[in-house]
Amino acid sequence: MIILVLNSGSSSVKYRLFEMEDEKCLAWGLVERIGARGAILKHNRYDGHNMKLAGDIVDHTKAIEYILAILLSPNHGVIKDRNEINAVGHRVVHGGEKFTKSVLIDAEVMNMIQECIELAPLHNPHNIKGITACRNLMKDVPQTAIFDTAFHHKMPDYSYMYGLPYILYKRYGVRRYGFHGSSHRYVADRAAVMMQKTIEKLKLVTCHLGNGCSSAAVNGGVSVDTTMGFTPTEGLLMGTRTGDIDPAALLYVMSREEIGIGEANSLINKHSGLNGISGVSNDMRELEEAITTGNKRAELAVNMFAYRVKKYIGAYAAAMGGIDGIVFTGGIGENSAGIRKRSIAGLEFLGAELDEVNNNAKSSDERFIDKDSRVRIMVIPTNEELVIARDTLELVQD
Ligand code: ADP
Repeated sequence: MIILVLNSGSSSVKYRLFEMEDEKCLAWGLVERIGARGAILKHNRYDGHNMKLAGDIVDHTKAIEYILAILLSPNHGVIKDRNEINAVGHRVVHGGEKFTKSVLIDAEVMNMIQECIELAPLHNPHNIKGITACRNLMKDVPQTAIFDTAFHHKMPDYSYMYGLPYILYKRYGVRRYGFHGSSHRYVADRAAVMMQKTIEKLKLVTCHLGNGCSSAAVNGGVSVDTTMGFTPTEGLLMGTRTGDIDPAALLYVMSREEIGIGEANSLINKHSGLNGISGVSNDMRELEEAITTGNKRAELAVNMFAYRVKKYIGAYAAAMGGIDGIVFTGGIGENSAGIRKRSIAGLEFLGAELDEVNNNAKSSDERFIDKDSRVRIMVIPTNEELVIARDTLELVQD
């Protein structure tokens, strides 16, 4: 069974093709700058062969046509016939309260995903463009939707509700939903395997630290709390997003700067976070570099970042009545020994003790980085696409 996984963003489509027999990734890549000059497809094959292709890629349909063409190409491809693709799994950011698990896409599901656009105007429309393009190009191939929000749907009400008037929840669905669900689910499952325990017996805090960042409290395999909320803006400090702030502070800034909703939206999502604090970059590597040259604001941004990760680990330990493991994943979580060190420092009282040597070891494998402490600390490279492929396989085999 061959499954294509697609992640369609505003100007990009990322893809991965899996042979599910042994979960081998046959090819992966992305189309960038869709609709702009200099659109490009970057393609990698399992055997190390890779290539780039510039083209006139005006929309998501064209992008997916390019992807299919490269997968079929005699020189760069991995399949001979389009029909070899048995199913396509799509990442969809927001499933609202309608979708609590992955689903096969039909006309009714499409309508329901459309209805979720109101909740995720920045993400869902692009996901829908990818799905629509794919359904047109591959009419007989089953397509599935895997939602970033679904893993968090079992959060208790006292965890997902905001202290706004209850009527606003009923009227507009204003509540916390959480995101990065496929990633939290994947690393929590892997942590259980690494710890040689069944997930039902484990209390884990999973920290997905990439451009977007979120932590989740995973109790017995169920997400019972997570840092992102109604949108991905809440919670941890991120590359360009504020994370938690006092909503009244934003109102105050809007009034003082005389800005409207659009500008405020871009302020909290595009100009804040690591970038806004440091004035250097949203990229953790550049901030770590700037710290070595004595840049104080870069240091402040990094300290804020790690402090929030730590604060939520403590909060989630309280929420779950203890923790057995902490997982770091995402570009920063997997690669920045410095951020892991700052985030764990002071958590010895919880039973979490970092091992310096293991933490600093250069490796891209999943591994323990603690001193065999009571709370195990792990680095686990995430694999959201594999979660999507597995769910898709399960749905089409039913
Ligand atoms: P996205 O959320 O877009 O998928 P990633 O998970 O790839 O993003 O994470 C991107 C972040 O990871 C950037 O801040 C980048 O600086 C950081 N990162 C990647 N490699 C390293 C590294 N070796 N050291 C520190 N940070 C890194």
